[in-house]
Formats: sequence, structure tokens, C-alpha cells
Amino acid sequence: MIVIFLFLFLLHSQCGLSDDRLIGGIFYKDAEDMQVALKISAKMYNYTTSIKEVSKRGEILEISKLVCELAKEGVVGIIDGLGGRASEHIQAVSDMLELPHVIIPHNDLYAQNWSVLNMYPSPIAYNSALKNIIEYKEWKNFTLLYVRGNSLLKMTDLMSMGNSTDKHTVIVRELSGDDYRDVLINAKQNGCVNFVVDCPSRNLEQLLSHAQQVALMAEEHSYIILSPDLFTLDLERYRYGGVNMTGFRMAKTSNNEILWNLTAQFNEDTGSSFEPDDINTNILLIHDAIVVFNAAMDKVNVTPSELDCDNYESWTYGSTLLNFMKTNKIEGLTRTLLFDGFGQRVDVTMDLLELTPSGNQTIGTWKGNNLLIERPITPGTEIGEESILKNKSLIVLISKTAPYGFEKQSSTELEDNDRYEGFTIDLIDMLSNILGFSYKFRVESNYGSLDTGEWDGMVRELMDEKADLAICDLTITAERQSAIDFSQPFMTLGIGILYKEPSKQPPEMFSFMAVFSKEVWYNMMLIQLGLGCIMIFIGRISQKEWQNPVPCIEQPEELSNQFSFANSVWLIIGSVMQQGSEIAPIALAPRMITSVWWFFTMVMVASYVGTLVAFLTVEKNVLPFETLDELYRHKSISYGAKVKGSTIDFFKNSTTDFHVEMYKKMKSRGWLVKNNDVGVALAENSTYAFFMESTSIEYYKERHCDLMQVGDLLDSKSYGIGMKKHSPYKRYIDDALLRLKEKGEIQKLKDVWWKEKRGGGKCGVKNNEEEKQLGMKNMLGAFVVLGVGCLIGLFLSTLDMLWGVFKRSVKYGTTFKYELIEELKFALTFSGNVKPVKRNLKDGSSEALAEAERKDEIRSLKSIRSGRSTDTHRTHHSHGSRHSSRSLSVAFAKRREYS
Ligand code: GLU
Repeated sequence: MIVIFLFLFLLHSQCGLSDDRLIGGIFYKDAEDMQVALKISAKMYNYTTSIKEVSKRGEILEISKLVCELAKEGVVGIIDGLGGRASEHIQAVSDMLELPHVIIPHNDLYAQNWSVLNMYPSPIAYNSALKNIIEYKEWKNFTLLYVRGNSLLKMTDLMSMGNSTDKHTVIVRELSGDDYRDVLINAKQNGCVNFVVDCPSRNLEQLLSHAQQVALMAEEHSYIILSPDLFTLDLERYRYGGVNMTGFRMAKTSNNEILWNLTAQFNEDTGSSFEPDDINTNILLIHDAIVVFNAAMDKVNVTPSELDCDNYESWTYGSTLLNFMKTNKIEGLTRTLLFDGFGQRVDVTMDLLELTPSGNQTIGTWKGNNLLIERPITPGTEIGEESILKNKSLIVLISKTAPYGFEKQSSTELEDNDRYEGFTIDLIDMLSNILGFSYKFRVESNYGSLDTGEWDGMVRELMDEKADLAICDLTITAERQSAIDFSQPFMTLGIGILYKEPSKQPPEMFSFMAVFSKEVWYNMMLIQLGLGCIMIFIGRISQKEWQNPVPCIEQPEELSNQFSFANSVWLIIGSVMQQGSEIAPIALAPRMITSVWWFFTMVMVASYVGTLVAFLTVEKNVLPFETLDELYRHKSISYGAKVKGSTIDFFKNSTTDFHVEMYKKMKSRGWLVKNNDVGVALAENSTYAFFMESTSIEYYKERHCDLMQVGDLLDSKSYGIGMKKHSPYKRYIDDALLRLKEKGEIQKLKDVWWKEKRGGGKCGVKNNEEEKQLGMKNMLGAFVVLGVGCLIGLFLSTLDMLWGVFKRSVKYGTTFKYELIEELKFALTFSGNVKPVKRNLKDGSSEALAEAERKDEIRSLKSIRSGRSTDTHRTHHSHGSRHSSRSLSVAFAKRREYS
């Protein structure tokens, strides 16, 4: 028996000595995952482990005893999973034994001890990273939340931000005990929205949950969490709240085979199902501690020794091994593993992550004390999928105002949201389908006004966060916008006047005159007069219009012109009346002007005839007023609007005096009504004009056929969905509304609720036979053509006149100027349509004159005898065409005196 015992003892001691790769570990009893991690990692690198469990926190003697036990076993180093004060005790013993001591958890103590290695990034490294992030985020004030024992040293630089400059306000709060809500509520009451949180990973979940409970997890809140384990937690419940959470991750998770193997093994050994991303930092650091040992052991040939604490023995290889461990730059799961002389990690690289509605997103890296931000751009189109409204339950205020919201008519009793239907009910349903929220309706008939100096109605409820959205015919006004936010407008409208359609009146006696506006009639008359004068002038200066009145006389003493005042006006009126006249212009210019005039009259007459029928047959609505001003002046028509709402506010806040007077009148006479239905009934059954928003007018007109909108809209505005100021939902709702608008869904919905459901389409398409008077706007083209034609005619006749003047000046040896003045004088006297013919008196001798006359007479007599006429342009009405040769001679003799 003794022999067997001796054999086993020898075997054990032999094995112990020959196993030079034994690593010790000290952990708390409940830190099973760390123990497993050590076993797995050690196995991966062919180490054996000896693990000691500490049963109770703060047991100094127990810890010292366990370290000594490990030393006795001949470990090459101790992996310390305790951290905090406990690490100091381990440190004290391992220092004495000169055993490498590797601390895994975050440690307050910036130990200046040669035998320790801290795997967790040092507070100094955190300090500069934090400062950089806060500057990047442009925080002007923030609150530091820390748990005692979790180093405030990390925050020294941050706290100095509050001291050194006026730019930052820093508040420091300690998180003590298990309930953080009081501290958080206090911070909230102080208006804190930005937080830097330094608490151990194990407390983090609790802290976030408490922050959510006290409503510190909304869009306006921002957190920087120091624990590198933030993104190993399940943050699903915070994801859609809009909170901005930034944290670190030490592991390189992509393409990391070792991490995958470690995770797989860990899952197998613990029966859990972690993803590589979810592996706790302590586990990664334990693995890396083994990596550090392993790399050093590869370089130093060490022989383990069984050390006895009682004898104050120390390990010969300890310091060498430790030096190699510190200076060996190697890569582990938490990236570069390098330490300074005090065993603190340097060159730490961490990813900076942010929680977004689509999950965790790497927004940058912190490497070598530099912060590199590489924020990926979130495409706008993804907003819908990433909606922070997903899975939210909202309180939505609605109003029972047709057609925006109705109580459903049903034979069975309906409950909750099922009780309502209408345009806005369908719209909110569409939005919820896009954005993934659920909702509960609450009816509120008061939309919100500042009548009492305080907001009431829907606006108040949104402001007090008693409701999330308000959707009805809620008009976007500047006043309301100062208290709440509105979404994109989903409908545009203006204030209109709803009034009973007046009975039809038969056409008036002179309704044929109404075809053209007064303006057109006046212009036509003026143009006829003007054109008459133009024709006379043109006729007088056009050479060809001066015709030989006695065609049988070749050398007439006088020429006559048909464009007398009477003839010109006759020509003009004859064409207007489509009758024509016997006056026919001869010269180019008068012909041109006459043609343009004929064209003008053709257009005018065609337009007149075309429109006349409507004026003679259509019965007219004779409205007692057509504008707001006329309504205001009307003595016997009362008018009003909804008692509370943007319509009455339009009158109340107007800068136009008569609007304000109308408001006062409506108020003092009790003409204001409770809601649209009452106003519509009044408008239908009495002489009452109801001011209502045009969209509602459209709705009621479809169902009350004897109602109409009078005049133009008084203003222009829109409806939007109301929500509290700076609501995080706004951009998502805007985006969804825009999409619905672009797809035409809102218009479709409007058509359904306006024209189809609930009695829509009753009045059919109204036969809008209203005759349309032709004004100057319609006829302007014809007037312009006429004007241009006249100008061209004038120009041509001027050329004609100048040519004639020139010819005469040559013929009679006078100057051009003289002839021109003579011509113009004659033309502009506008009297007499007879023009004496000049004779050539160049030589001035009486013999020459007598000779010329004699030749003239002989030529004339010859032509009479042969019966040939020299005048081919003679008109039928040429004066004196039947002169006898004798009387002609007499006439000639008389007129000779002229020259
Ligand atoms: N849309 C109006 C408002 O938001 C109510 C109706 C009205 O005033 O005509 O106040």
C-alpha cells in the first residue's frame, strides 16, 4: 500500500515538474464563463490550467492563500479574473514570488509594479479617446455617470474640459447601489441629454434599462459608454427609440478564425449560442493573455518551479518572462498586444460603434491615440425600413369631422379603433403600414388655440406628451407651429364662402349686348371712328385714289376722291354689318387697310355670333354677393365660421380692417357655429354665408346640391399631422407621407372619401352652363392685327404720296418740299373731295400755255369722237361723268384760273 502511494506521489511530482506549461487562474465562483474561457484558450495553445475559485468578494486571506497554492503547483503565471482590490492582493503575493500576474478586468489601479500586466486598456488611453469623441460630437455639456471603483481616472481629461474652458459644462454623478433611477431622474430634471457612462459591464444592462424607464432613451439623448461590452448586449429595445449610443469594441470580429473557433468551443462547453460579436471582452482578454504568455514562452526557455510562500521563494525566470511578455508586439483577438514598462497596454486599437435603427454600425476607429471617423452614409430610402416608429404604440388624436373622421355606422357594437373611419383614419393606417407602428385613437374636437393665453385642445395634448400624433383637418398655422411640429402638408386649401345657390333668373332684355364686355364695345366704336379718319387721310394722300371724274376728258382740270367722311364710315360700317358697300378702294394702302378691317370684322362677328346663343338662352344665377367685400356690405346676409379654428383666427388676426370688423360682428351677433355640420345646415336653410375650408366645401358640395362656393379663396394654407416639438418621428412621417403623395395614394384616398363614400357623387357633375363674356383679353389678337395692318397701310400710302410729290415737283419744276407742304396741307384740310390738276408752267410764257391748252382740247375732242375712254379706273359714282363736250369746255375754261 505504502509502495503504491509512493509510486503515485513520485508520478505526480514528476508530471508536475515535467509540465512546464501550467497556467494558474483565479476567478470568482460565479465567473464561470471566464473559467471556461481560460480552459479553452489554454488548450488552444497547449497549456494546462489550474483554476482557483474565490468564494466571497473581498476575502483577502482566501485570495493570498489561493495564489500561494498556485505557486506551489509551479504555474508560469497567474491570470487574474478578479480585478479591483482583489487584484492588489494577488499582486502583492505574485510580486514577492516574481510570478507574472496578468489582470483581465478593468483595473482602477494604474499599478507601477513590474510584475503586473493589465490586459484592459489603461485609463490614460481612454482619456484621450473620450475627449476626441466628445469634441467630434460637439457636446457643450454632458454628465459623467460612474460607478465607484470603476476608474474616474479615465475621466480626468473630460473633467478638465469643464474647468479649462467655458465651452463645456461637465456634471459628475455617481451611480450607487442597484437602483440608478434617482440619479437619472435628477439628471433629466437638470436638462441633461448627453452622458458619458463608466460602469462595469455587469451593471450596464441595468443602467440602460433604468435610463429607458425614466425616458432618457429618446432621440435627443446621447450616450458614450466606456465599457467595450456595450455591443455584446441585446440593444434591440433601444434601437428604435432614436437614442444615440456610442461605444467601443476591442475585438476584430470580421474574418477572425480564432474568434470563430473560440466562440464555437465556448458555446459547446457552456451550452450557449453566442455569435462572435457577442463574446464578452473578458473572454477575449483571457485568450489574449494566453497568447501573450505563449509568445514569451516561445522566446524564453523557462523551467517552472514550485514556490513556497512561507519561504518567500521567488521564481528565477519570472522577470525574464515578464519582460518578454511586455515587449513582444503580437496580435491577439483584441488586436495589438503591447505593454509599457508598467504593464499597461499601449497602441490600443478599438472600433467605435453606434447604435442605429438598422443595428450596430462601425463609425470609426480609435488607433494610436487618434480618432478616425468613417461614418457610413445612411441612404434616405432606408428610412422606412429603419423607422424608429417600428413596434411603437402611439396615441393618435382624431376628430369626428367629416370626411376626416366619422363614427362608424354598424349594427354591432364596435370597439377601440374599429369605431372610426374616414380619410385621416385610412391615412394613419397607411403610415403605420409603412413605418411599422401601432396606434390607438382618441377623439378630441378642439384642435387647439391660444384663446385663453394657454394652448388647449390637441396642441396642448401634444405639448404635454399625452398624445403622439394629431391627425384631422388640422391647419398648419405659424402660431401653432411655435408650440408643436407639423409633418409635411398632406392637403392644401384655403378659406372659401359656402352659400346657397340662388334661383335662376331669365336672361335680361339687352343680354345680346353682354356678349362683349363694355371695354370691347367702346374700343370697337373708337376704332371705327379712328379708322374712318385714317381712311380719309390715306385716301387723300394716295395718288391713285384721285380719279378723273370725267373719264371722257383726258386732261381733267380736277381729280376727285371717293374717301369722303361719309363714304369712309359707310365702308367701315358696311363691313361690320357684313353687308359690304359700293366704295371700293383703288390704291394699295387703302386696299390693305380695308382688307385688315374686313379680317377684323370677320373675327369679331364670328365670335359674337358664336357666343350670342349662350347669352340669350342660359338662365343666370344672380348672386347677392360675389366677393367678401360685397358680403361685408350686404345688409341682410349673416355670415359665420367655426367658433374655434384657423378660419375664425384668419378674421381675428387679420390686418385688414373690414376682416376684423366682420370678426367682431360674427362674434357679437352669435353667428359662429360649433362645427362644420351646423354651419352647412344654416347655409342651406337660411340666408347665411359660411366660411369654411375649401376642402370641406368640396365635400359638402358633393352631397348638398344646392350649396356652392362663392368667389375666390381668401387665403392659402395646408393640413399637416401634428406632433410634439422636435419629435423624433417627424422625419419618418414626412418621408412616408412624401412617398404616399408621390404614388398618388393620398389623392386616391381623397377621391374615395370625397366623391364615393358616405353619399358622395349625389349631385353629379353640375352643368356649368355659365355664359362667358368676351372681353378685351379674348379679342386682343384681332385688335392687334388691325392695328398692324393700319400701320403698314399708312406706311405704304406715305411712300405713295412722297412718290407723287416727287413726280410733281419734277413735272412742274417746283421743289420737293414745296410740293410736299402743298400736298399735306391739302390732305389735312379734310375738306373737299376734288383736287385741281396742275399744269406745267416751267417756261411761264402765255404762248406755251395757250399751245398746251389747244393740244389738250384737240386730244379731248378726238377721243370723244372716237368714243374711247382714257379712264380705266372710273367708278360708277364718279361725279360729272355725263358732261357734254360743250359743258366740259366751259368747265375747263373756268378752272384754268387755278394755275
Ligand atoms: N382646420 C381648422 C383648424 O385647424 C378647423 C376648421 C376651421 O377653422 O374652419 O383649426
